[in-house]
Amino acid sequence: MVSISSKKQDGLKSRPPVVVILGHVDHGKTTILDFVRKTHIAEREAGGITQHIGAYQITYQNKVITFIDTPGHEAFSAMRSRGAKVADIAILVVAAEEGVKPQTKEAISHIKKTGLPVIVAINKIDKPEAQPEKVKQQLAENGLLVESLGGEVPCVNVSAKTGQGIDDLLELINLIAEMEELKYNPSAPAQGVVIESYLDNRRGPTATLLVRDGVLRINEIIGTASAFGRVRTMEDFQSKPIQEAPAGTPVVVIGFNQVPQVGEKFSVFASLEEAMAKVERKSRKRKEEKEVLMIDEDKKVLNLILKADVLGSIEAIREALQSIPSEEVVLRFLKTEVGEINESDLKLAESAQAKIIGFRVRLNPALKELAQRKKIKILTFEVIYELIQKVRELMADLLEPEIVKVVLGQVKILATFYRQKQRQIVGGRVLKGRVQKHSLIDIYREEEKIGQARLIQLQRNKKDVEEVGQGQECGLMVESETIIEKGDILEFYREERKKKTI
Ligand code: GDP
Repeated sequence: MVSISSKKQDGLKSRPPVVVILGHVDHGKTTILDFVRKTHIAEREAGGITQHIGAYQITYQNKVITFIDTPGHEAFSAMRSRGAKVADIAILVVAAEEGVKPQTKEAISHIKKTGLPVIVAINKIDKPEAQPEKVKQQLAENGLLVESLGGEVPCVNVSAKTGQGIDDLLELINLIAEMEELKYNPSAPAQGVVIESYLDNRRGPTATLLVRDGVLRINEIIGTASAFGRVRTMEDFQSKPIQEAPAGTPVVVIGFNQVPQVGEKFSVFASLEEAMAKVERKSRKRKEEKEVLMIDEDKKVLNLILKADVLGSIEAIREALQSIPSEEVVLRFLKTEVGEINESDLKLAESAQAKIIGFRVRLNPALKELAQRKKIKILTFEVIYELIQKVRELMADLLEPEIVKVVLGQVKILATFYRQKQRQIVGGRVLKGRVQKHSLIDIYREEEKIGQARLIQLQRNKKDVEEVGQGQECGLMVESETIIEKGDILEFYREERKKKTI
């Protein structure tokens, strides 16, 4: 860590910490963000509606804190996958009654990999079944040792419902931010990350940027790997027009030539030509990479058309879906686009036998009916987790079912009576389970399988029956190429087709 005095000499200034909230689905990330937003942001004006822009700032004890407020964990990983450093501090939310879950573990591994300072927030402490000490133990088992157990990770019990502990959490954020000595260079050209982007019908390509260094000013030329333009309008997270955005500030910028991708880095350029040249270089590289991506012929392909509310969701969903492990099925995205599901999506789905996946988008009833008539599957979701589960099922549906052998019972042959060609009549006792008509049979001699048979007739006390139970004797007429002998064991089974899962 560089000492404050040396930084001061460089003309560096302090900047607010950028905080990201990670944790398992339903553990309360959104509720915590909502609670903090509601209680610590003064309304800009009475009745003023603040647009939700993927990040917001609060002031707590005279210090500004920036929260990343993206639709969940997945959006954050989309940014990460592009190598963009977004946050300075991570809050790991764990529900006090549920404890460590798969996404908690994922978050821990991410935090460890990046070395991000972390605060554990044990949430839902208001619930009677809350067991915060057990959660701490589980965290320790996963390599995260909180302070009260002798580790270095601060931990606070909170309730996003009652607000208990939330101020303690904010205080801890301020404390860590102070220790981290977060600085920026006010005379450097601005650079940062795209945290959300979409096409606004009225205003054109719109992006929420988080400035990481320098100061972004109105009229500057900015560019990412996929878009560039002049900062025509800049607004803070409360939709208030601003002229400058120093590091740590989330801003809505209008002026890009097209919608930039979430997670891309942006920087300031001397001219539009320079910014444009960068976009061209990058897009050429992307195209080359795409051509290399060929699909193995042995694999099944699930064609998808993905429509979502904002680009952030598309990025997040795409990444989450592509990380579903499967040897046998590949996903092919025919189209990923922001906006409502429309007729051209239907046409494409019909011609390419694709499924249409909508995330937080409207589906108009006429289109729904048309799709039903044409037997095109449209699935819409509000929750990423559910979407991913459903796509897993669709992938699994493409796989041939597995044939599994369900053993019903075993018969020991006590006597053989009659044989003609492949038909034999034998008698035996059911050692285990039960035997049923229409079963398949494996024949074992001295524990070795020597053949197979088909049951033609099942008798008990010389009467045809459907089933004979354990301990009882029975007469069997079977058909087999193997000659059954006294002492053989016949194993009765059924074959079931079991759907594979992914
Ligand atoms: P996320 O998926 O992590 O963003 O979780 P949400 O914030 O959507 O919360 C999931 C559910 O837990 C919602 O029904 C919340 O109302 C509820 N919840 C969140 N925080 C608390 C809490 O502190 N106490 C209680 N009792 N319920 C909570």
